[in-house]
Amino acid sequence: MSPENQNVFAGAFVDRSGERRKDADWLADAVASDDSRFVPVWKDKFLVGDEPAGTVLLEHHQLEHAAAEHELIFLGIFRDNPTFAIKIDDDTPFRELGEFRELRYLGTVLPPDEANLIAHARALVLWHASQVFCGICGSAARPGAAGNTRICINESCGREIFPRVDPAIIVLVENGDRCLLGRQQAWPEGRYSTIAGFVEPGESLEDAVRREVYEETNIRVGNVTYHSSQPWPFPSSLMLGFTAEATTTDIELNDGELDDARWFTRDDLRSEFPKLPFRISIARRLVDGWLGLQDSP
Ligand SMILES: [Zn+2]
Repeated sequence: MSPENQNVFAGAFVDRSGERRKDADWLADAVASDDSRFVPVWKDKFLVGDEPAGTVLLEHHQLEHAAAEHELIFLGIFRDNPTFAIKIDDDTPFRELGEFRELRYLGTVLPPDEANLIAHARALVLWHASQVFCGICGSAARPGAAGNTRICINESCGREIFPRVDPAIIVLVENGDRCLLGRQQAWPEGRYSTIAGFVEPGESLEDAVRREVYEETNIRVGNVTYHSSQPWPFPSSLMLGFTAEATTTDIELNDGELDDARWFTRDDLRSEFPKLPFRISIARRLVDGWLGLQDSP
């Protein structure tokens, strides 16, 4: 557990046990044991039971009609149980046990350890689906390291492919008693959030903060301070949260990514307008921290 980081989906609740990933004997025993647990992933959704919402973890005997064992992804040890993710392709699997729901919703209702576990599972299942072939020689690639890598099957290549994580910065820019929030056109009416964007090759995180804020709002940023981070497997981002001090104040929407951007006071943010970012997001935590609503970070 990481008490310094309370973002949804964060927290080292799974002992990833990396040394076990290539231990075939241990893995075979673990899969077959009564202690093993399986996170079924169906259409990027997760099986949850009734109130209070809880993730349904399957046992080995419930997997008879599911995928072969080489398609299992070893996530690690969760609550003392070897735990695997398994992609399910059946039409209506396990309906008697609960309902399949989206991760964005589940992040708002699950206990922190279960939210962390299924975010981990989602990221890896999606990554496997996107890496069917080797990007160097074009041959097929098969899962390796108990589903934590993929290996090119072409023996003269044999490339080992590692799961991808895409760093993205997200920043609350302040200027005195105002902070800078923007909105995208597709968002619900009145909703504003902190400035965000992907880190580009050759950039430091601070460089990315300053570039994104300038590109999207024309605001120049001076001091940049790290806040916290959040796994964001939609499909593979890691959100890196910052606060920053503006050195200019004239907003222009330089790159057209935003529909609007404004300075808001704390009183504004406590009123009906704007609508604040969703509670699940690190953006909301940055805003709440600025409002003094929680310890920061
Ligand atoms: Zn290859």
